[in-house]
Amino acid sequence: MCNRLSEWSVRLFKRQRGKTFDLRYENTRQQAIIASASWFLWVNILFSCVVLLRAYFNQSVEVVLLDGTISLIYLPVLAIMVIAGGILYILFFVPNRQALWLWSMLRIVMVVLSLLWCITLFMLFSSGGRPIIFALASLLLLTSLVSLYFDARIWFCFSVPLEITIIALCLVYPSYITVTNVLAYLSLTLLVESARRMLNNWFILALRREQENIDLINRLEIQANCDPLTGLANRRAFQLLLDKTIQRKNAQQGTFAMIMVDVDKFKNYNDFYGHQAGDDCLVQVASVMENAVRRYHDMVARFGGEEFIILLPEATEPDALDVALRIHRLLEEKTLEHQASDVAPLVTISMGISCSDNNNVKKDENTLLLQADTALYQAKHSGRNRVSIAEF
Ligand code: GH3
Ligand code: MG
Ligand code: MG
Repeated sequence: MCNRLSEWSVRLFKRQRGKTFDLRYENTRQQAIIASASWFLWVNILFSCVVLLRAYFNQSVEVVLLDGTISLIYLPVLAIMVIAGGILYILFFVPNRQALWLWSMLRIVMVVLSLLWCITLFMLFSSGGRPIIFALASLLLLTSLVSLYFDARIWFCFSVPLEITIIALCLVYPSYITVTNVLAYLSLTLLVESARRMLNNWFILALRREQENIDLINRLEIQANCDPLTGLANRRAFQLLLDKTIQRKNAQQGTFAMIMVDVDKFKNYNDFYGHQAGDDCLVQVASVMENAVRRYHDMVARFGGEEFIILLPEATEPDALDVALRIHRLLEEKTLEHQASDVAPLVTISMGISCSDNNNVKKDENTLLLQADTALYQAKHSGRNRVSIAEF
């Protein structure tokens, strides 16, 4: 029964339900990687501009000229700009940002960008731009770390070629290998990897806390809307759904019905069988009503004491009568003994039906409740164990 209640809370409060932590983690990671990969692509474009401007203004780094007109250093840097710009365009316009092919594409793009940066670093190195390569490589590593740390594979796609290049540069130019440099590269690598793990742990911890909060809110919500004895929705949940149903009806010109239910001679039942048996009886009656309603949006709620109310959105008067007769039949089939009743030897109920739209008269919720209550009173008055329909 509480499953149905949590369905109502999903409808009433528009909460996401049933998402496991792993699924939430994957979804959030996917959203985060798209957002921060976009930022990192902008960083690539910015760094490319810096390198281009530096090559343009600083003649000392001018390297081999292609056809004597264009410096080769421009080529990988221009390729970085074009690729980063193209991928940014795709990420901006892609209809499904959760698509798996995006991840595969980003991995390939990161490898390509990293290799292009490696070529750029080699060129800068060989053309006398040594002072900036360590700074440029470090900045690239750090910015990639900040933006891609929560997806190790994508981050490794970018960082590993870059780190290998720095070490390779030391080997190609042995004069550049000093104990200090080797130590600096090694500690940078360790530092960056430990920072990535630490940031990733914080990321996971934040998501776990969010998941715990969502679970707690869902539990509290169910407790706040659930009748503890029968597991049905309580009056509060009923009121919320009724408000929504009336709003929807006003907007869409639909119709809905409600059935007020009261157990006959229940005081006698308690006196005869005891209060605990009375509680068990209410649970049985509640389950009969739950089984009698068929539509997803129908709600059975405990109105108070031995009174229940059934809300049937998008139902007409004949629909409500069908439900009421079905409840009567199912309760009869259950054969719950009630020796202290002068109505029948079994537990019986009386019901009053009101409908939102009979005779095209618009009614507010209080009128509807009053009409259902009056119809219930008529059913009681004319002998109990029957259904009465409000005639207004
Ligand atoms: P009628 O046919 O006119 O409805 O008679 P009735 O005896 O059912 O109505 P009345 O209002 O006189 O008594 C309702 C009884 O329901 C009184 C109360 O003790 C009992 N009741 C209300 N809530 C609970 C509950 O949670 N558990 C139990 N066991 N009894 C309850
Ligand atoms: Mg009663
Ligand atoms: Mg009563």
